[in-house]
Amino acid sequence: MKPTNPVFTGLPITIFETMSRLAIAHGAINLGQGFPDVDGPEDVRRMAADALMAGPNQYPPMLGLPELRQAVAASNKRFYGLDVDWQTEVMVTSGATEALADTLMALLEPGDEVILIEPLYDCYLPMVKRAGGIPVRLRVTPPDWRLNIRALEDAFTENTKAILINNPMNPAGKVFAVEELEAIARLCLEHGVYAICDEVYEHLLFDGREHLPLMAIEGMRERTVRIGSAGKTFSLTGWKVGYITAAPNLLEPIAKAHQFVTFTTPPNLQRAVAYGLGKDGNYFTGLRDDMQAKRDRICRGLSALGFGVLPCDGTYFATCDIAPLGIDGDDAEICRLMVEDAGVAAVPVSAFYVADAPTNYIRFCFCKQDAVIDAALERLGAWLANRAVAPVALAGEA
Ligand code: PMP
Ligand code: GLN
Repeated sequence: MKPTNPVFTGLPITIFETMSRLAIAHGAINLGQGFPDVDGPEDVRRMAADALMAGPNQYPPMLGLPELRQAVAASNKRFYGLDVDWQTEVMVTSGATEALADTLMALLEPGDEVILIEPLYDCYLPMVKRAGGIPVRLRVTPPDWRLNIRALEDAFTENTKAILINNPMNPAGKVFAVEELEAIARLCLEHGVYAICDEVYEHLLFDGREHLPLMAIEGMRERTVRIGSAGKTFSLTGWKVGYITAAPNLLEPIAKAHQFVTFTTPPNLQRAVAYGLGKDGNYFTGLRDDMQAKRDRICRGLSALGFGVLPCDGTYFATCDIAPLGIDGDDAEICRLMVEDAGVAAVPVSAFYVADAPTNYIRFCFCKQDAVIDAALERLGAWLANRAVAPVALAGEA
């Protein structure tokens, strides 16, 4: 038989699914895959349930329900001062994942270079490759994950078609500094390059930080594709409702890709998300403040246990250096030990690299109930204490 496509053939199952399966198998507390353990607002869910019963449950318009496209345009104005025409500049997708796939399929031609920033979210690389693009990787490193502007300049070539950024950034918890966004904008303008901005964590910035979409930087409005997700904004990750904001000449081909990928997204979920995006400011600040308190809770606890906790300015992920624990093994091995022996699942950060990954970082997801975070910390504490005690006892016996 002829070979299947090499981009996907032989790819492992995603690290998120892998860790979730292991967590179930070992009865572990799952701080691996990124999903909240409490469903989002009841009124939003009620709206979806009512819409399901009231109908219609038939294909909604291909670009999305007008009310949701209007709500996305209104959110762009309300949160970032962006003027967006809902009819020509907004499209609803089945999650940010579909939005990314549509965008890459629509913008790339074979041989186009796409700049990706490592550590990178897992779907970027295969999607870029399958769309015919050539990934050009640029790395940010802990603890500050700052972009090296010289290296960024070097990454842009005459073949660069797009740069894909994730801001705030999973798993680094990095929020791009204004100067970094300005440098990206300058280079996009100089080289005639598109920016694809995965901003699914746009409402999860901490310590008073405000999200600044690259699209809002001068000159970027016409060349940026901005992607959001109701999964993160409303703690409803299973709904897979995403949205794209882009200038009409970009949205048009992206919509052509969408029409042959999913064509539409369930109408009742769209109606509910439209309602959700209209919620008053307290909802959005409340979400952020709750998450910040959870960040503080888990980071404090992990530090006390000896993890080298890195700063987390946004997202719902805390990255930790495991080297200070003094346990033999790399991040993947230690995650496996942790899920099996401690009963806590995390994610090895090396999974976010293509090659030459650092092997001493693991990621904890903290969008969990306080009691769950506390229980996980307690399990980790007991596990680490046992490991510390065992060799001492042996030494004593000898
Ligand atoms: N981008 C990033 C950076 C993510 O962390 C996620 C996952 N949660 C997604 C995209 C996918 O979002 P969605 O579930 O809306 O497809
Ligand atoms: N984005 C989530 C994470 O980073 C996972 C989503 C998925 O499993 N595809 O953990």
